[in-house]
Amino acid sequence: MATLQLKQIKKSFGETDVIKSVDLEVNDREFVVFVGPSGCGKSTLMRMIAGLESATSGDIVIDGQRMNEVGPADRGLAMVFQSYALYPHMTVEDNMGFSMRLAGVAKAERRRKVLEAARILQLEPLLDRKPKALSGGQRQRVAIGRAIVRNPSIFLFDEPLSNLDAALRVQMRIELARLHEELDATMIYVTHDQIEAMTMADKIVVLHDGEVEQVGSPMELYHHPRNRFVAGFIGSPK
Ligand code: ADP
Ligand code: MG
Repeated sequence: MATLQLKQIKKSFGETDVIKSVDLEVNDREFVVFVGPSGCGKSTLMRMIAGLESATSGDIVIDGQRMNEVGPADRGLAMVFQSYALYPHMTVEDNMGFSMRLAGVAKAERRRKVLEAARILQLEPLLDRKPKALSGGQRQRVAIGRAIVRNPSIFLFDEPLSNLDAALRVQMRIELARLHEELDATMIYVTHDQIEAMTMADKIVVLHDGEVEQVGSPMELYHHPRNRFVAGFIGSPK
């Protein structure tokens, strides 16, 4: 079970209101996509959900529990970024198991979980390799594997595919959809790519200047955009 509620979330950096007042409900196992132009506040919102940044005001609620004072490691979520640094001197297996090693998980259990994630991500033949011997798509899969082994109930993806070429992005989109099915997790996914949003989302949240412009299914937004901004972003003329 993993639901998320944002209640009147605001964030200011100095005098600048970056997130103005965001209310949002994410249902259990939903695949929610945040879209919006560069600088509209997508990453800031994700970092607040992850607990890497505190909100200036408002509440973040996961499974009915207020999370504002709960640290990132105890929120039951895992985040995958665009720039995912793998440890260059460690194998794929050790990269994927590292957070568990820090948490004191026994070696056999670490191996079991890494193998399970490697199976899901088709990384089994690569477990002994170092990152420099991997392609960009394989490295991104290792970064996703690091998140999977933590058994999060919510995955946060912040433009995870934007460093990959177009063909690989299509392939990874399909893999992420399969991952969503297989893991039964709630996923929040940031992109500025309309096609990614339209093809992956159960629900799209259109952000503009730190505010939610519209929330709806891809078809709702396509056929009934509230205004020109949403129409421009999602595609149907208005
Ligand atoms: P997006 O991910 O949608 O591109 P961001 O959340 O990264 O947008 O940034 C939203 C706005 O907040 C931008 O104007 C950015 O310059 C500003 N911002 C983000 N982080 C900080 C920070 N730590 N200090 C000051 N301003 C910031
Ligand atoms: Mg960003």
